[in-house]
Amino acid sequence: MGTGYQRILLKLSGEALMGSLAYGIDPAIVHNIAEQVAEVVSSGIQIAIVVGGGNIFRGVKGAAAGMERATADYIGMIATVMNAMTLQDALEQMDVPTRVQTAIAMQEVAEPYIRRRAMRHLEKGRVVIFGAGSGNPFFTTDTTAALRAAEINAEVIFKATKVDGVYDSDPKTNPEAKRYESLTYQHVLAHELQVMDSTAIALCKDNDIPILVFDLSVKGNIRRAVMGESVGTVVGGSCAIK
Ligand code: UDP
Repeated sequence: MGTGYQRILLKLSGEALMGSLAYGIDPAIVHNIAEQVAEVVSSGIQIAIVVGGGNIFRGVKGAAAGMERATADYIGMIATVMNAMTLQDALEQMDVPTRVQTAIAMQEVAEPYIRRRAMRHLEKGRVVIFGAGSGNPFFTTDTTAALRAAEINAEVIFKATKVDGVYDSDPKTNPEAKRYESLTYQHVLAHELQVMDSTAIALCKDNDIPILVFDLSVKGNIRRAVMGESVGTVVGGSCAIK
């Protein structure tokens, strides 16, 4: 395949699983994601997934409603485990061997996060889904994606969104909005572009992990991205800003 990527970290937000629903998980969307992952795994590419929980619970919202922030964040992390198990089920129904590892121990339903074991699973062609974020409140699953990508030596983060990349203004309201082909970490940080939160971007910058922002709802996009087709915006160290 085109880019030579061997190990990819796919970041799925909770909202990516929600589809057009107002809350929760849309089975058709999960099926579509699982199909795309299965397609790429069958070609020998290793995929690890970090999944968010915003479709179920967000710590910041809980805190805004009066909860203690750390408690609310733990609930958010537990929400991500539901998404992780849902994805695992969809992948296994397609005969893709999958393991869920959680950063908060729940050994009745998932393995605990063990870096070396996760890497071994990947080498054996299993998809590894990381649930419960980083295990620490006050963090996000975007930051978790950057952390896990660095830990498992993933060559790239595929950040799935509902738009086909990063624009200079909102393409929904501005028909003149321009999509960036590539951007530097520095540009994203300086202009506070909504790619990932600044902690996640900084971690990717320090560890030189490129981020591809792309539209997951278009079938086959994970494969196209692996093949090196231009399906979104790449954020990296020395990319020219176009
Ligand atoms: N969370 C956390 N620590 C982490 C990752 C997540 O406390 O390392 C909590 C946080 O409350 C967050 C929620 O889990 O709001 C769901 O994760 P996130 O908002 O990142 O999900 P996404 O936006 O990707 O759906």
